[in-house]
Amino acid sequence: MTRELLIAGGGIAGLAAATAARRAGWEARLFEQAAAFSEVGAGLQLGPNATRVLRDWGLLDDPALRAFAPSRLRVRDAASGRELGSLALGTHAEARYGAPYLTAHRADLHAALLRAAMDAGVRLHPGERIAGAQVDGEAVLARTGSGLQVEADALAIADGVWSELRQQLLHDGPAPSTGHVALRALVPLDDVPAGLRSDDVQAWLGPRMHLVRYPVRGGEALNVVAFVEGSAKGRDWDQDASVDRLQSVAGRLCSDLRALLDCVPQWRSWPVHDREPVRGAHEMALGRAALLGDAAHPMRPYLAQGAGMAIEDAAELQRVLAACDGRVIDVPTALRRYALNRWERCARVQQRSRRNGAIFHATGVVRLGRDLAMQAGGEALLDLPWLYQGP
Ligand SMILES: Cc1cc2nc3c(=O)[nH]c(=O)nc-3n(C[C@H](O)[C@H](O)[C@H](O)COP(=O)(O)OP(=O)(O)OC[C@H]3O[C@@H](n4cnc5c(N)ncnc54)[C@H](O)[C@@H]3O)c2cc1C
Repeated sequence: MTRELLIAGGGIAGLAAATAARRAGWEARLFEQAAAFSEVGAGLQLGPNATRVLRDWGLLDDPALRAFAPSRLRVRDAASGRELGSLALGTHAEARYGAPYLTAHRADLHAALLRAAMDAGVRLHPGERIAGAQVDGEAVLARTGSGLQVEADALAIADGVWSELRQQLLHDGPAPSTGHVALRALVPLDDVPAGLRSDDVQAWLGPRMHLVRYPVRGGEALNVVAFVEGSAKGRDWDQDASVDRLQSVAGRLCSDLRALLDCVPQWRSWPVHDREPVRGAHEMALGRAALLGDAAHPMRPYLAQGAGMAIEDAAELQRVLAACDGRVIDVPTALRRYALNRWERCARVQQRSRRNGAIFHATGVVRLGRDLAMQAGGEALLDLPWLYQGP
């Protein structure tokens, strides 16, 4: 008998989980509360740990992904413009890790995952939310916002950082604000002065802020995202914003960075929320439910791995669902194995993301120490084999 996975949420985690279930031989039924499947605009970096999974699923060949392979990561001081350190990406990363380091627009990755899910035969239900579920019986019993009762063998909770289903199961309150705000912009490359164009990922570090820029959409647009310490209002991922905030926090900015800010026509802001690193397997699986993506482990985007961890979660889910025979390995056992295999790595990435934020935004002597360490340590400090080699 074919088993069925019910998925709550049609973001990157939910669509990846749905494709993973189909590849494991399960039926998959996905509910997304929004009327249409779509993503708000911003760029993503995808480390080799994530692109390895996407390649196995055939997504790297999908023209919809419009991925870009940056040649290098360069870290620079926001005030002086001085290069503090760099890491070869491009062919170097691919040779070292067996998969490329890519950048993509979130909407493009989402479109490629949606197409993969549809091609795999996932049943999609846009405009319908999962309002609640019982996950400790012989089957998952879920109810939708419109009152539909849905039964399945397992539930993938992929409803994002504001996960209500997590609240119902773990009762650990909403994800708190980090006190950091993301300001983001997408600039068509034609509008970027020739002297500011480059094929690398650049991170500019300043006091209480940093800014990251890289090409997306096959190199046709530049993604610019700045992170600033300060209060943020609401949960909306797409608020009007002004760059004055960045300038008042950072103080002096070098001429290259000022020129970059000048060519951005419009900024949107995005409050950054996270949680304490995952404390144990019990936070990633309960009974017949598994948590994935931001619902499981929301993190600061300072290691550029939120989507990467969601994709890794889905790959692990595929492994345990494929091994679940209902006799020796039943559904709760399979999902418990998923959680045991995932939680420590996710916690480490959450922890490291927080630490990066503190290092990137350092002031005073800590900042001086950071700069000296980066200049002495160079590539060794920026390369992360434990992360990019995969779990
Ligand atoms: C500024 C910024 C930059 C980032 N950069 C990177 C990067 O470079 N690399 C990287 O890997 N990650 C990055 N991330 C992180 C990454 O964007 C997220 O980790 C990832 O998008 C999370 O996907 P998700 O599917 O878990 O959640 P979401 O994208 O939030 O999707 C959840 C979905 O569930 C739906 N939903 C909610 N409740 C219900 C319900 N009850 N029933 C049905 N549907 C429901 C929502 O409508 C939504 O569509 C960045 C994040 C930020 C903020």
